[in-house]
Formats: sequence, C-alpha cells, structure tokens
Amino acid sequence: GGREARDRRDLLLPGLHAVNDRVGWISEGALNYLCRRLTVPPAEAYGVATFYAMFSLRPRPATVLHVCTDLACAAAGAGDLCAGVEARLGPGSGVAVERSPCLGLCERAPAALAVRSGDPVRTAVSAPATVEAAVRTAGAPDAAPPEPPAVAAVPQAGDPSLTLLGRVGVVDPASLDDYRAHGGYAALRRAFALGPAGVIREVTDSGLVGRGGAAFPTGRKWQATASRPDRPHYLVCNADESEPGTFKDRVIMEGDPYALVEAMTIAAYATGAHTGYLYLRGEYPRALHRMRHAVDRARARGLLGDDVLGQGYAFDIEIRRGAGAYVCGEETALFNSIEGYRGEPRSKPPFPVEKGLFGKPTVENNVETLVNVLPILTRGAPAYAATGTPGSTGTKLFCVSGSVERPGVYEVPFGTTLGALLEPAGVREGLRAVLLGGAAGGFVRADELDIPLTFEGTREAGTTLGSGVVMAFDDTVPLPRLLLRIARFFRDESCGQCVPCRVGTVRQEEALHRIVERTGADAAGDIALLREVGRAMRDASICGLGQTAWNAVESAIDRLGAYA
Ligand code: SF4
Repeated sequence: GGREARDRRDLLLPGLHAVNDRVGWISEGALNYLCRRLTVPPAEAYGVATFYAMFSLRPRPATVLHVCTDLACAAAGAGDLCAGVEARLGPGSGVAVERSPCLGLCERAPAALAVRSGDPVRTAVSAPATVEAAVRTAGAPDAAPPEPPAVAAVPQAGDPSLTLLGRVGVVDPASLDDYRAHGGYAALRRAFALGPAGVIREVTDSGLVGRGGAAFPTGRKWQATASRPDRPHYLVCNADESEPGTFKDRVIMEGDPYALVEAMTIAAYATGAHTGYLYLRGEYPRALHRMRHAVDRARARGLLGDDVLGQGYAFDIEIRRGAGAYVCGEETALFNSIEGYRGEPRSKPPFPVEKGLFGKPTVENNVETLVNVLPILTRGAPAYAATGTPGSTGTKLFCVSGSVERPGVYEVPFGTTLGALLEPAGVREGLRAVLLGGAAGGFVRADELDIPLTFEGTREAGTTLGSGVVMAFDDTVPLPRLLLRIARFFRDESCGQCVPCRVGTVRQEEALHRIVERTGADAAGDIALLREVGRAMRDASICGLGQTAWNAVESAIDRLGAYA
C-alpha cells in the first residue's frame, strides 16, 4: 500500500525495474508515479534511472538484443556478428540492438542476450556464432535454439572430488530435496552446533580470504562486524560479477542455488544479521530466476524466516537486481544502489563493517567466498586448509575463455600453475598472451605459464589473480584494438565522481586511439602520457575502478611490448 511504500527509497531500484520490464522503457509519467509513491524528488529519481545502462528513458522496442562486444567475444568475432545483426534488425523490426559490455557469457562467445519486456525472466541467451541464430533468438523465444544447460560451461561439473563445483550439474537446481540429498544443510546444522563465535573461529582457522579480488581475510571481516554493538547488522552478498571475463558466480547460482542460500544463512548467523541482501547482476536472468525460486522454497520449508531450522534464529533474504553498472561491484557503490541512490562509491573510512548498508555494520562477501564456507564447516578448517598453499588455502574457480578449445569454469587447488590450468582447456596454437584478472588485471606472456596461481605467487610475478579471469589470446587477436576496448570500457563505466578517474579514463582512451589509428606521429609521447595519467589514476582515485583502470594497458606495454 501507499503508506508502507512511503519513504522506502530502497524500493526505487526495484520500482524502476518493474516499469522497465513491463514496457521496455520508463516514461516520464511512470517515473513521476514512482516518485509520489516512494516520496523521492523527481530530479533525484531521474539521476538514478539514468545511472544504469539497462534502463531507457526514451521509447524503445519491446525486445532488446544485447550483443556482447567485450574482450572474449571481440576475439571470437563479435564485430562481424554485431554488424550483421544490426543490418538485419533495423528500425521497424521490433528489436533494438545494443552493443554491450561483457554479458558474463564468455564461454559461449560471441554471445547475445535477448530481453523481452513483460517477460523479464524468460529471456533467451544465444551462443550464436551466426547472425541467423541471434536474429532468431531475438524474434521468437520458442524458435530460438534451446539454451545449452548451464553446466556446459563447467568441464568438471559433478566431479565429487571438487569442493565448489561438486554439485553443479548433478543436483536439480529447482529441488530443495535433491540439494539435501546431496549434503545440503549439513553445514548450517554444524554452524548451529558451533554457535556464532565458533563459526567465526572455524572460518578464521581455514585461512579463507575474499575471492572478489581484494583477498581480505573473511574471518577477520566477520569478527569485525559481529563485535559492533549497534544494530541491526546486515549481510550483503555481492553477486554483481561484472568484471569482463568473469562468469563463475553465475554458474554457481544457476547450478547450485541452494548452496548460496545456505552459505548466506551461515554468514548472517555468525555476524548477527537477520536480513541478507543478494545483489544480483541485472544481466543474469536465469540466475535471478533460480535464486528467487530457491529463496521462496527455503522460506516455505522453514530454512529462512522467523525460526530457521527450528533453532530460534530469524533470517531472510531480499534479492535486488542490478541494472547494468560495473562500478556497483564496488561494495560501497553497491550499498548506495540498494538504498536507491546512484551507484557511486563512498569514501572509506568509514568501512562497511562499521557503517555499511543503511549506515549499519555490514558484512559484504561475494558468491564464491560465501560458498567456500560450506566445505569449511562440513570438513573442518584443518582439512580445508590442507588444500592449496599456506598463503592461499582451498581451491579457486577460474573463468577460462578466449583462444581455448574448452572455455568454462575450472576449479583447481591454489598453487596450480597457469599452464596446468590451461592444459585441459586446450590452448590453441600461437598463444601470445593471457589476461589474468580481467580488465582490471594484467597480461602475462605465453612464456610465463609457470606462474603459480596463488595470491602470493601472482603478486611476486608482478601480476594479479583478481577475480579469477584467465583469458587466452593467440596471435590472431589484434592486441592494440583489445586495449582500446578495455580503455573504452573504463571510460564508459567510470561514475565520474572523482577527477583523476573521470578525466584519466578519457585521456587514456584518446591516447590509445591515436596510437591505434596512427593519427599521432609520436607513439612514444603518447606512451609517456599514458604512464603519467595511469599513475594519477592509481594514486588519487577514490575506488578500485580508477585505481585499476591502467593496469591492463601498463602490463601490455611493459610485459608484452605492445606498440614496441
Ligand atoms: Fe567513480 Fe572512478 Fe572515482 Fe571510482 S575512481 S569513484 S568509478 S570516478
């Protein structure tokens, strides 16, 4: 009712989605209606709506075909695909074609995603390779080729020796009973037996560190939140994976959704939270559908709600959809997004464990970090920590894509070398470089495949694990154009809040453009400019986006000798 909606600014993003879903765009009338219901000033709501790439404030066709033109897809021929689709689906076709940053479908490159208004969940995904298939996908969902099962992305799906992927492709993702039959909810039972402090001790002893890129010790983060006296505490699961080349969290949510529900329940219990937000990437309709179903089923069966497992502990999960903004993967930007503001990062301190979501103590973890808690509790911390290296315990999911025969998500113990990871994926002849960590990561050369995949090993080698992207490029891929694509990505995604990043990402793209087009006679001068701008971005940007926007380009110049 209108009463409850008043002053619920946090309902603005779901409201914008509801309108955008119904007709494909947001009219002025609809926006004003939302503003009245939620008591949000129209100018502010406009500022929020225009912040996100998935919303349109101008009329557009009811179906939008997003064609990925990002790194892995560009290397697989997205340019031709895009041009072909645009030629076929012109004005009057009823389909709007939009060139998109990474859709998280890298294992199916070149990828396209059709989103039909009025039918937000039943979207079709295609791994077209052909213009024909993409056009069919956009035109009629039933005529589209059936989507390959999510597990096609996971070469090792269902291998019982695997810690994180063992159930993917084995359990029916829609069935809670099946999840329980495969060991589900054993970890939560153990958590209740240990008590919150015992769970935190176990997670600390396991050596688990965050898998989102920053590698912060999870137990320490949980302890810091748990010990804050002010209430309520919140749990936020960051499922906004939008680092180009990353799709592992999607595979988990599509293939083993109850695992995330259980892991969030444990994290909340340990840190004293009774509400958890799952912030899910807007471009993941199938994961959204599966997670909604899993949350509903768990609630119906007393595994969420007022009395979880009959233990007198109350916890529930709210799902929020992102709307196409890379920067919302930054934890404080994500809080602003949930609260109904533009997804702009906040300055730190204060840190989220003190003042996070709605200004309250908040623990924020990504999907992969959280699901690691299940094996830690069922097997015990010592057994968990026996895998990997002392500095990087457990296993890691890697998203392998690009110039390989079998792209997909691979789970390996930390310490596996880059070469050993790539081997089962089938590297093609003429490997030139591997991008580690995505657009915010860095390139390594084809003769550096003995780098051990650990946090300390990659640091020592002067590169980064980042979020687990491993993108291979053979010598047919035009590197300078790839770098230009990365630079354009950062320029597009910068929120513009701070000067070094807002101006630096533009300057970086301009310099690379001059080098690629050879319009400036002086490549050496442009490279010097790139270094200067890069240093300013790294040192003076507020958030990780600006701080990492120069990493990949720098590594291409210094390690690969690009433009030499
Ligand atoms: Fe925004 Fe870039 Fe500054 Fe981050 S570094 S706050 S993305 S302008």
